Amino acid sequence: MKAVVYKGPYEVAVEEVDDPKIQEPTDVIVRITTTAICGSDLHMYEGRTDAEPGIIFGHENMGIVEEAGEGVNVVKKGDRVVMPFNVACGFCDNCRKGKSAFCLTVNKPGMAGGAYGYVGMGPYSGGQAEYLRVPFADYNCVPLPPGDKHEEDFALLADIFPTGYHSTELAGVQTGDTVAVYGAGPVGQMAAYSAQLKGASRVFVVDNVPHRLDIAKDIGAEPINFEDGDPAKQIQDKVQDFGVDRGIDAVGYQATEPDGEEQPAVVLNQLVDTVKHTGSLGIVGLYVPSDPGAPDEHSAKGELLFRIGRFFEKGQSMATGQADVKKYAHKLRDLIIAGRAKPSFVVSQQLPLEDAPDAYERFDNREEGYSKVLLQPGR
Ligand code: NAD
Ligand code: ZN
Repeated sequence: MKAVVYKGPYEVAVEEVDDPKIQEPTDVIVRITTTAICGSDLHMYEGRTDAEPGIIFGHENMGIVEEAGEGVNVVKKGDRVVMPFNVACGFCDNCRKGKSAFCLTVNKPGMAGGAYGYVGMGPYSGGQAEYLRVPFADYNCVPLPPGDKHEEDFALLADIFPTGYHSTELAGVQTGDTVAVYGAGPVGQMAAYSAQLKGASRVFVVDNVPHRLDIAKDIGAEPINFEDGDPAKQIQDKVQDFGVDRGIDAVGYQATEPDGEEQPAVVLNQLVDTVKHTGSLGIVGLYVPSDPGAPDEHSAKGELLFRIGRFFEKGQSMATGQADVKKYAHKLRDLIIAGRAKPSFVVSQQLPLEDAPDAYERFDNREEGYSKVLLQPGR
């Protein structure tokens, strides 16, 4: 089959690789109809993780079940399914609590959580390919209505829509809250949209990429360009209430200053300033324990200069981590089916798999018109 293979920093190639096979009776093989490029892939693409060449990328996958192992009971050949990016068992202590991003059985001892096509997340090949092996398929497949309706909305159930929603849960967003989202990439857009679905009164979205801020404005969020001055001050001036109730980080450790220089703690510290006393912060932007391209020796080990003093003084709280996609995907799917949510407003391209190298480069450059790229093998 064809697959998107990581070759080294800033290089992916579409190559012939072996087809995946059923390895355990609880596996299925899915023929991919849509898979997406994620901002998380860019950390690997840029050589900013320990990812080795040869990885097949792709953790945002949906398709049609092609073959089911003998131990698969619910999912059947021919079913249309979307896979949460977390590979999880469904029966360990964390999965039972809904914390499927921290599954205790799918990774090496001492590690928690698995994912398709991601460094450090277990031996699971990615789905930017024609076929994908899905372990513990009855748990890791979310069933979808047959046909091809809502394809681009359902594809976002693998990661960014639930991840955006998860960020609002981590931040504790409630009806009427004011919310600031840092990052107008696909995850930030989904965080803003989810805050609106929950009934936030005002949602601010911070970035410096104009066309991304325009997308946020189109859904009714208030764009804040951090090149126009300190974003925390800009937001406080607008709410006139010592800050917002909730803050969300949808940027992560590759955050930049207005001059383009990377400053890995800048968003965390600006959130402390942006959020009011006793408010709360939800961090879904990625932070890593090892960064080979870090700007200094401490951040190379994931040690950042976070202003804990000011954070403590303000009595704020913070929650972090990978999204437990399974926890939300079924309900968010039902919102899409009911016509109450249409997350595909963020999708800019639907391209054949062969276009992946060009699409990676353009999405990585945050080129205008590259807000979220879907790849469709066989298109
Ligand atoms: P992206 O790279 O497309 O978007 C990041 C955005 O942040 C860009 O638009 C960039 O211009 C902006 N930005 C950079 N510095 C900033 C600053 N100082 N202030 C405000 N905005 C700034 O990525 P994405 O796909 O939207 O993902 C965002 C983050 O979420 C990534 O770190 C990704 O790895 C992470 N992620 C986490 C999970 C999870 O489960 N926790 C899931 C998916 C993605
Ligand atoms: Zn993703």
